[in-house]
Amino acid sequence: GINDRESVLRIARENDVKFVRLWFTDILGKLKGFAINVDDLEDALELGVGFDGSAIDGFARHHESDMRAFPDPATFTLLPWRPRQNAVARMICNIRQPRGQTFPGDPRYVLKRNLEKAAALGFTYYVGSELEFFYLKNAQTPEPLDFDGYFDQLSSYPASDLRRDTVLNLAEMGIPVKYSHHEGAPSQHEIDLEHTDALAMADNLMTAKLVIKELAQLQNVHATFMPKPISGINGSGLHLHQSLYREGSNCFYDADDEQYLSVLGKQFIAGLIAHAPEITAVTNQWVNSYKRLVPGYEAPVYVSWTHVNRSDLVRVPSYKPGAESSIRVEYRAADPACNPYLAFSVMLAAGLRGIEGQYQVPPPVVGNVLEMTPQRRQSLGIRTLPGSLGEAINLAENSELLYEALGDHVFNSLIENKKIEWEDYRSTVTDYEVSRYLSTL
Ligand code: GLN
Ligand code: MG
Ligand code: MG
Ligand code: MG
Repeated sequence: GINDRESVLRIARENDVKFVRLWFTDILGKLKGFAINVDDLEDALELGVGFDGSAIDGFARHHESDMRAFPDPATFTLLPWRPRQNAVARMICNIRQPRGQTFPGDPRYVLKRNLEKAAALGFTYYVGSELEFFYLKNAQTPEPLDFDGYFDQLSSYPASDLRRDTVLNLAEMGIPVKYSHHEGAPSQHEIDLEHTDALAMADNLMTAKLVIKELAQLQNVHATFMPKPISGINGSGLHLHQSLYREGSNCFYDADDEQYLSVLGKQFIAGLIAHAPEITAVTNQWVNSYKRLVPGYEAPVYVSWTHVNRSDLVRVPSYKPGAESSIRVEYRAADPACNPYLAFSVMLAAGLRGIEGQYQVPPPVVGNVLEMTPQRRQSLGIRTLPGSLGEAINLAENSELLYEALGDHVFNSLIENKKIEWEDYRSTVTDYEVSRYLSTL
């Protein structure tokens, strides 16, 4: 990759770049940014670019709204779907305060801080992701474009072309895609990003979501990452495959274990299992997220782990002979509308707690956790994920782990923001209630 200012400036010149979009992510996981003229790029690389952060969710209060965006040279890439003459590039920024101090409200900074904690223990945190979403006719009603299902090959136009163009554009931007396919629900698709270190993956996910939406829009299609856009069919998840590496080798791999899973891997899982309910407000941050986490739609409901079944929260995919890297921990709760910087921060913090505290992992679940009686689940110590945003906020608010992982600024503004959302929802009379009660009560 490119990593110094000189090569950024050279590549910009060679590709006739005219505009450089400076990107960052707000606390709720929304991609934000503004474009500068290429003539100001050298200055931007050195001194950052000032902007007003007061209208950005989770950023500053009004009296301290001046921010500076420092573009990270390693993230320079063209936007391949934009014109090649007077081309457009993007760079992902670190946000700083006017006097150059780090800004604790910047989600990318929060992740970096957590990655440094892992690095101090000798670990590099890798993440691979399965990004699910729907292509819909428009943004007003959730009307599907196709009625195909899981892995269908007769995938209708324009969805199959959109997926193809997305994968090609991402490849040009240096974001490798491992698989893409039609998912289980009508008009639902999946694009799986090849694992990278967690910071690059969070950047890649923000980019992939924008590319998916922009390319769809060019064909008058609406792509959505809403966790559960349509009742009665699967919602969209963001399965996250995690591993810790030390000196180039996978710490979760152990040739002597029956399932090739190391003690460290088991402790990481134990940490995720122990802290899953309190981190769910971050991995599943919307009222709608909890409409997905219900039985019957391939999304997790219970806090359990396994090697095989797919209704569990955590899964360790089977070992691929000869590939040490195939041993990883898949966390299946998160949805694609989370903030990946914050989601990775809290998952990593939970896993590291398991390692540092030498947590004991419960035995993996045999059989289908959804088919067990509540008594059976209770005797196995299997808890449930929060059933609503309200429940999730209560657990989050009392979580010392979450406070530590997110830091004071992000923790407080997230909780405050989510409480407003929950109160707003709680007091709204829905279509469901009107159709069910108005004529009968
Ligand atoms: N869409 C399902 C979810 O909500 C996952 C389906 C799958 O990939 N097995 O998590
Ligand atoms: Mg998949
Ligand atoms: Mg899937
Ligand atoms: Mg999966």
